[in-house]
Amino acid sequence: MTESTVGVFPAILTDPHADDATRPFWDAALEGRLVAPRCVRCATFRLPPSPFCFVCQARDVEWTDLPGTGTIFSFTIVRHALAAMLAEVVPYASGIIELDGTQGAGARMIANIVDCDVDALRIGDRVEIVWDRVTESMAVPRFRPRPGTV
Ligand SMILES: [Zn+2]
Repeated sequence: MTESTVGVFPAILTDPHADDATRPFWDAALEGRLVAPRCVRCATFRLPPSPFCFVCQARDVEWTDLPGTGTIFSFTIVRHALAAMLAEVVPYASGIIELDGTQGAGARMIANIVDCDVDALRIGDRVEIVWDRVTESMAVPRFRPRPGTV
């Protein structure tokens, strides 16, 4: 486990407990790549991965590499530690990131936004993914503001 750092929500899990529907995501994460399952019938991205398409109910997907950049669609700042383990990390930002390469196709990701002044964050800010390797078998996706864009 990593030590507590202000702004970084601690990784609760040390293993993603991947199944057939999520394993490609977690395997790519260990390689520092962001991938998402895209329905082969209607092209909808299915994040989080699901066994059936929520639009057309098809099962088959193709795993698509994404650039790992995006835009803050929404976010919240947590200033009050709701658990003792969070006392040293507040305030932290949790955001909904609209992923580049998927606009209009349904892919947003909820993630901790790190390496930032949480009070300076704004909806529409550009961000990029950073992989937090919490164990040998798990890398957690987080996002940070893109240099020069905020
Ligand atoms: Zn579909």
